Amino acid sequence: MTSNRRAFLTRAAAAAATLALGARPAKSHGRRAAHDLVIRGGTVFDGTGAPGREADVAISGTRIAQIATKIAERGAEEIDARGLAVAPGFIDIHSHGDGSLSADPRLESLVRQGITTIVVGQDGSSQATGAPRSPSDEDRGYDSFTSYFKAIDDEQPSVNIAAMIGLGSVRGAIVGANNRPATAAELQRMTALVERALAEGACGASSGLEYTPGAFASQAELIALCKPLAARGLPYATHMRNEDDRLLDSIDESIAVARGARCPLQISHLKTQGPRNWNKLDTVFLRIDNARKAGLDVAFDRYPYIAYQTGLTNLFPVWSRDGGTAAFLARLDSSAVAPRIKAETLAKVELIGGWDNVQVSGVRSDEDRAAEGQRLGRYAQSLGKDSYDVAVALLQRNRGSVNMVGFAMSEENLERILAHPLGMVCSDGGAFATEGPARRGFPHPRGLGTFPRVLGKYVRERTALTLQQAINKMTALPASRVTLRDRGRLTQGLTADVVVFDPARVTDRATFDQPFQYPEGIACVLLNGTIQLRDGQRMDKRAGRALRPMT
Ligand SMILES: [Zn+2]
Repeated sequence: MTSNRRAFLTRAAAAAATLALGARPAKSHGRRAAHDLVIRGGTVFDGTGAPGREADVAISGTRIAQIATKIAERGAEEIDARGLAVAPGFIDIHSHGDGSLSADPRLESLVRQGITTIVVGQDGSSQATGAPRSPSDEDRGYDSFTSYFKAIDDEQPSVNIAAMIGLGSVRGAIVGANNRPATAAELQRMTALVERALAEGACGASSGLEYTPGAFASQAELIALCKPLAARGLPYATHMRNEDDRLLDSIDESIAVARGARCPLQISHLKTQGPRNWNKLDTVFLRIDNARKAGLDVAFDRYPYIAYQTGLTNLFPVWSRDGGTAAFLARLDSSAVAPRIKAETLAKVELIGGWDNVQVSGVRSDEDRAAEGQRLGRYAQSLGKDSYDVAVALLQRNRGSVNMVGFAMSEENLERILAHPLGMVCSDGGAFATEGPARRGFPHPRGLGTFPRVLGKYVRERTALTLQQAINKMTALPASRVTLRDRGRLTQGLTADVVVFDPARVTDRATFDQPFQYPEGIACVLLNGTIQLRDGQRMDKRAGRALRPMT
């Protein structure tokens, strides 16, 4: 979208919001209403895990003014929530929703899930590092978290955005794309970037140890970079080095990093990948419990699907990606190393159950649009070609930029991870819309369905966890994890981020075959006291902003 068009859309939205405000009826019968808004008669879940109780919730300005069984004073606006649940707005502790922010700040698929805050900068990759930008960074990166947060505020998104600093981005900025240890001087500069990011309001540090260049970080480097987190009590969030055959080693490494840095640990999207690793979950939980008993603050998050999404390059060994995309693509064609790359890649594909468990979810080149949404095995067969050759050809034509969904996880383990007292709900997804610039590719449905899916499938249908437990994992737990102290609970005086939904009806509708479908049963969303969604309809005024932790 051109900036002119964006400016026009922003002006149009502002004009519509003004009209909507002007037309708003004041139901105060001639007297000044005591509150801006009263949500009446819903079952209020405070986010702490306590059961719901019937109550009214009054909101004045951006704050929760009162919660009581019966609030006599009228609100300038009233929402009838009888028969519905009223909860703190959902907080997505591991999100990629800032990726489409400048293209479409409505973040529609997030609002419609009841999300009010996303925590971005995940998997070792953040839009801001604090390093001076080089000319090659042209379309990514801010030179500081201050300027990144200002850009967020200027976009006026429809959810609040908190952000971690990505340690892979930091390594990329200082050391570059190659597999080599950082020098002492580089490590000092990297640590200074982390310290500056935290001082400017980053809410943690993330690693993505299956991605380059983040994967080239040693344990000692990670410990050094995480030390600044300790004083603030902010977490090290990690997409671990391996989530399948070397899962247990990766758990140990994550614990060792957090222990070395004396900071909290958040294991991102915990999973046991590949059927032959499904039996490892008891051991995973045991190691986490033992670390907690030894005083380490460990927790984890998970999305409610048994398929993951990543780059197709992730099926290829890390060593083959050393040096960046051009070097990787050259190796795929090199007779010296191509056979070894193929053998290791095929072993990884076998681990997740074959090429039909790999769905192509996004390509860059229009030439390959037909591959989107297809299982790679069947797609190759339809072309009369070998699956590996098709995968390599896709990567070559799309300059490495191909996304995939891999079906390789256990439904039973998913329920146990979600239900575990230390488990939080995350989407790990981007933000999308059913129309406009954010309708793009063939995404994993988690970007449109995660929170309603937990409430519908895992709470109501499968009873894997209770409603109050699920809400706790979507609100107070993630809020406390990144010290957003005035959010995540419905308590007088806190910021009014609120979702009203129908527990009997709430459900996701996005699927792997038809991802562009909004969920059902989310009635109203309030963000910083402003209505974003009412009776399932979007309001025009966007009230989101950048959030800094309150350490
Ligand atoms: Zn990840």
